[in-house]
Amino acid sequence: MRRVSIFGATGSIGENTVDLISRAPEEYQVVALSGGRNVARLAEQAIALNAEIAVTCYSECKQELAARLSGTGIDVGAGPDAIAEAAERPADWVMSAIVGAAGLAPGLAALEQGATLALANKESLVCAGALLMETARAHGAQVLPVDSEHSAVAQALVGEDISAVERVIITASGGAFRDWPLEDLPKATPEQAAKHPNWDMGLRITVDSASMFNKSLELIETREFFGFDPSRIEVVVHPQSLIHALVGFNDGALMAHVGPPDMRHAIGYALHYPDRRHLPVERLDLVKIGRLDFREPCERRWPALRLAREVMRSGGVSGAAFNAAKEVALDAFLARQIRFTDMAAVVEEVLETMERDGALKCDRMRLDHVMETDHLARKRAAEVAELIATEA
Ligand code: NAD
Ligand code: MG
Repeated sequence: MRRVSIFGATGSIGENTVDLISRAPEEYQVVALSGGRNVARLAEQAIALNAEIAVTCYSECKQELAARLSGTGIDVGAGPDAIAEAAERPADWVMSAIVGAAGLAPGLAALEQGATLALANKESLVCAGALLMETARAHGAQVLPVDSEHSAVAQALVGEDISAVERVIITASGGAFRDWPLEDLPKATPEQAAKHPNWDMGLRITVDSASMFNKSLELIETREFFGFDPSRIEVVVHPQSLIHALVGFNDGALMAHVGPPDMRHAIGYALHYPDRRHLPVERLDLVKIGRLDFREPCERRWPALRLAREVMRSGGVSGAAFNAAKEVALDAFLARQIRFTDMAAVVEEVLETMERDGALKCDRMRLDHVMETDHLARKRAAEVAELIATEA
């Protein structure tokens, strides 16, 4: 039996992971599950999978979770430290599917105990890629990508010589506002941004798809995960979301990964790696699909892509500042304090002032420095958002 833990079990990636594990309960021993306010669902999952421990990230939800699990023998925890402690429990395979920088600490804890980390939480690679990959190496642990584009790249690289790779192309659907006139974007509402044309995902990543902050995180994720030079990483808009990524080799060949927009593919690939197993995803009918389209991403529509290039250029801890400022800007947009188009302005202002102050430099990445940068960038971003809100 393989021991598995799922952090962010009640979210979109978490539920898809639970779905795959539930189909073969005899193969898995579930160690830890974590969630947020959806305590009823977390308790239900913990009972169904017979988990050792269930943890909510909110201390105020502990009592309800304990009540729902009383008499089951399942341990209960609450708060960020309890999540990191649960990640220290020995497991063979750990799904990192918390949203945001909060996924970093449990991811590191899982790697430190030598677990294979299935990484959906791209924010941890953006914030502290060097630290995460170094921790994996130091403990002989493996990180497997779960983002669909990065799973696609990893699959296209199997058996290949990495030095023969000329370029990597990750695709973007373009999100909810792909075809909107540019002048309408300032009026876009959170409800409109929360409608993804192809994928069914959590709220934050869906809005990040409309702004392309998701793709900008993924550009940095590609760099951190595979080590490619930023000049070799491209983004192309592909409205159908069927090709997830392409790898171009020095003989001119492009290897594309094609599949339905269903995260159970990338999750299943990481779960069964290095084997391939049957997965319950749709089989594509190419004749019915008929055509695949591609467009150049417009940086006026999606300035986040330009900001990601800036982050990769300046290096250091700028990824942590970028992600933190983006999280605050997204909160401010969701709370209707700032406009859709103000999010990039907030992030750009934070990056510029922090770079000017020399706050983004670092020689060797340390966790306390990453956390300090995260904290400072959140503070600055909140100030900038406030300023924009009062000026409007
Ligand atoms: P989601 O919002 O649906 O779920 C997030 C999970 O994290 C929930 O279980 C929630 O309770 C928990 N959580 C939220 N805030 C937390 C905090 N501060 N501390 C601890 N736990 C917290 O999100 P999702 O769409 O499943 O995305 C999860 C991660 O996977 C993100 O990093 C996202 O970028 C990445 N990802 C998602 C998809 C997708 O299809 N949904 C695809 C690729 C990558
Ligand atoms: Mg993705």
